Amino acid sequence: MKNLWNDQEAKAFQRDLALRVYTSRLLGREPSLVLHGGGNTSVKIRERNILGKEEDLLYVKGSGWDLERIAEAGFSPVRLQHLIDLAKLSSLSDLQMVNELRTHMTNASAPTPSVEAILHAILPYKYVDHTHADAVISITNTNNGLQRIKDIYKDRVVVIPYIMPGFDLARLCAETFPAEASDNTIGMVLMNHGIFSFGDTAKSSYDRMIELVSMAEDYLARHNSWHIALADNTEPDKQLRIDIATLRLNASQTAGFPFLLATYSDKQCLNFINRKDLEKISQCGPATPDHVIRTKRVPLIGRDISAYTKTYNKYFADNVRYSKDEKSILDPAPRVILDKEFGLCTLGHSAKDTAIVADIYKHTIDIILRSEMLGGYRALPAKDIFDVEYWELEQAKLRSSGAPPAYSGEVALVTGAASGIGKACVSALMARGAAVIGLDIQNGIESMVEAPGFTGIQCDLTDEAQVISALEKGVRRFGGLDILILNAGIFPPSRKIESLTNNEWRKVQNLNIDANLTMLRECYPLLKLSPNHARVVFVGSKNVAAPGPGAAAYSASKAALNQLARITALEWGHDGIRINTVHPDAIFDTGIWTDDVLESRAKSYGLSVEDYKKKNILHVEIYSRDVAELVAEMCGPLFAKTTGAQIPIDGGNERVV
Ligand code: ZN
Repeated sequence: MKNLWNDQEAKAFQRDLALRVYTSRLLGREPSLVLHGGGNTSVKIRERNILGKEEDLLYVKGSGWDLERIAEAGFSPVRLQHLIDLAKLSSLSDLQMVNELRTHMTNASAPTPSVEAILHAILPYKYVDHTHADAVISITNTNNGLQRIKDIYKDRVVVIPYIMPGFDLARLCAETFPAEASDNTIGMVLMNHGIFSFGDTAKSSYDRMIELVSMAEDYLARHNSWHIALADNTEPDKQLRIDIATLRLNASQTAGFPFLLATYSDKQCLNFINRKDLEKISQCGPATPDHVIRTKRVPLIGRDISAYTKTYNKYFADNVRYSKDEKSILDPAPRVILDKEFGLCTLGHSAKDTAIVADIYKHTIDIILRSEMLGGYRALPAKDIFDVEYWELEQAKLRSSGAPPAYSGEVALVTGAASGIGKACVSALMARGAAVIGLDIQNGIESMVEAPGFTGIQCDLTDEAQVISALEKGVRRFGGLDILILNAGIFPPSRKIESLTNNEWRKVQNLNIDANLTMLRECYPLLKLSPNHARVVFVGSKNVAAPGPGAAAYSASKAALNQLARITALEWGHDGIRINTVHPDAIFDTGIWTDDVLESRAKSYGLSVEDYKKKNILHVEIYSRDVAELVAEMCGPLFAKTTGAQIPIDGGNERVV
């Protein structure tokens, strides 16, 4: 493992806490050390309080911060002596412990200290680093893991048997560490959990972490348990989107809320899933207890959600400590599915969640395979894992997060997503928690939004093959389709009928009407599989009710689209799919309104551009964002019982009202 310390970089971090930030970030840069909050660091600093008295404080990582991006504000100052005294108690409940941590901070607005704060406090060193290093866990989680760790580190680390993170672990360490530490001790290994290093300076503690983890890596290499051979599993070019959406529907129905489902069919995942011993090696349990709330105890192999639920419910029945209320928080749906065709599937409420679960499981795969090569992967007994799951539940109660965003776990597709109303719809839907697939013919759509909840696909909507391929890609990324926004369209330059060519006419109909038929037809089987009843919003036009001279091709295409929307509402009602239309007018911040078009339209009404823009009853300008907010709301509960509706958003039009 590479030591990333850089003297030049470190110069920018002078004070004790600043250096704590620097080396924490170095640890955070290595996902095989700390993955999604799986690690924490601290520094002990003497400070003068407001009364002028000196006191020792433990600055420990606060919850909600990850090491990669931590800043000084991410460390919570807690009175050190109080923590050391707490470790002498014979017992302390999780809730009491968190209360003690929070009430003994010297900064009321600091985040809640890590639940491992007491553990940091009792180690008598200025800097303490803690990671869940993959290499160390690969060794602790094997048959003879304890002996192997002792062989590797001898008296350089104190070894603590597995015990659930929290007060009991801190108390055990407080007793064991002083009794077993020697002058050679530079760290501490927690079986089936992770590793600590410590030192008088930020650098020495960090250097020791890298040294200790490198020793584990070398041990694995010496025992032919480091390199993972990957056979070439070429991905079969099969259309899987309907099967994937079906699996997602089943999982969502089991959980009682919509899930996103992401699929990963890379070499690493397919190699693992195609192993003959998959059943044996994947069903033992997670690599470290803190993965359990993300990944559940074990993944589902194949697609039989109901079999998984049965086992899960039995697992609860065997460990009856949950009240009915608590049980409802933990649904029986899997979070990881291993399927020979789909690859690794991860489920979550958001794209960020599915990505985190995938990261964790991909690391788990390597840990399992290395442990297998070393002598057999051995996870914790189910009872220990259950305790962590229960404990995580307590934590969740403390966090008491508010209601999830409206469209959390749902997938929307927006056509013409690169600009104007389409782009605004992407923002409005993402703001409501939906994952969004944005299609546009423009390149650059792929990188339009840098967020896990957006995937942009360049696509010519008039090309059926491209549409199908885009749907396949989108569903593999998010698992299905719940909301369809048909927005793409062109508005050609003003043209009188006597000079309107067939070619020009055809081009407009191709995109504005024909492409929408393709989209509806191809999306229908996916929309039917939406866990929440799908919704479609058509972006129509004021021109349907009040056409203007010089816009024959456009007005005719939008009128045809309007009929298409009405008939879709009639045909899909029995599937519970709602179809509604917005009729915007005079939205000038869109791609189709170039200065030229604007001027020529204004001229055909005999108006200035300024007056043309506000040519409505309310005399207001209407923006893309206004339309997008309406579109997004039409997919929500306010319109739950409305279909086939047409709603103008045009400032009021005398010819329509
Ligand atoms: Zn830990």
